[in-house]
Amino acid sequence: MHRKLIAAIVAATLGVVLVAVAGATSAGTGSTGTGTVFADNPVQELGLENLTDQKDSDAAVPPAAYHDVTLTNLDGSGFLCGDYACVRTSTGNPAFSPTNTFRYMRHDDEFEQVMAYYWITEAQKYVHSLGFGEPGKLPGVDNVSQPVRINQYGVDNSFTTDHPTNEIRYGKGGVDDAEDAEVILHEYGHALHQGQGFQFTSEEAGAISEGFADYWAVTVTDVVAQQQGWREQEPLPCVADWDSTSYTSGPIHCLRRIDGNKLYPNDLDGEVHDDGEIWSRALWDIRLALGHVKADTIILDGSMNFPGTDMPDLAQRTVDAAQSLYGKSAANAVRTAFEHRGIL
Ligand SMILES: [Zn+2]
Repeated sequence: MHRKLIAAIVAATLGVVLVAVAGATSAGTGSTGTGTVFADNPVQELGLENLTDQKDSDAAVPPAAYHDVTLTNLDGSGFLCGDYACVRTSTGNPAFSPTNTFRYMRHDDEFEQVMAYYWITEAQKYVHSLGFGEPGKLPGVDNVSQPVRINQYGVDNSFTTDHPTNEIRYGKGGVDDAEDAEVILHEYGHALHQGQGFQFTSEEAGAISEGFADYWAVTVTDVVAQQQGWREQEPLPCVADWDSTSYTSGPIHCLRRIDGNKLYPNDLDGEVHDDGEIWSRALWDIRLALGHVKADTIILDGSMNFPGTDMPDLAQRTVDAAQSLYGKSAANAVRTAFEHRGIL
């Protein structure tokens, strides 16, 4: 506690770099707080496809899009750092509150920090609820305080890097990337893959990771929205509805969809995001067949230590995971989903 307090004071004086040190050395105390977030983004939640960024103005988004939530797993430092996420920032102030109260509007730089902390933490809590990282159950998947950097780049492109660290960075072009939970969770999907020894050594491995990341964004936002009572309807298989208002013409704004009809191998074009649409549709079909709990457990377990070969190999590994976790009928459902895409 003493060390954390000193680190916080030094960080407040010298900048934010040391905040990460405080978070990285903390085991997490389980502090809770309050924050304001979008759920999961204003376009999807409110069905308002005509919303636009309007230069990050508060007036561009109706007040109904903001939701108070409980922030959990905080380390008690007063910064947005805890068991599963630790926010660093390169522009603007790092959110800090001695009472863990983080209520901001979208024009505030701190708003995106709260979004990132909340959605990554909820995603990892969901991973734990499936048994990953729980004693005696399944191995952890990125079961660490994930470093997240906000507004590092002035372009509309977020990414996960392992150079030099496994750090997620969210950009600020158009709609700020971290104003859309599906962008946050897409990048966290790549971090999960990195955290489970997934090898990005082929184009198909890259495409699989893009497809998984798109699927992950949709499945987790749906799970959290249901838990919170934010929406009752079936999830939209459309990724980044809000972020993509900046660069798609509509009338329905999607960065990509996960319910397309591309087939393996004829529809491969060598671009990882395009080719990922083959994979994400298979995952979506597994979810429709088995429900999110079984589907997501199988999907995560199947890609453990994936050596980066190709889609048929990971598809077979995923069938095998289904067989060992839930038996024959689940394995058949998974095999069918991959057969429908031509992967098996
Ligand atoms: Zn990606």
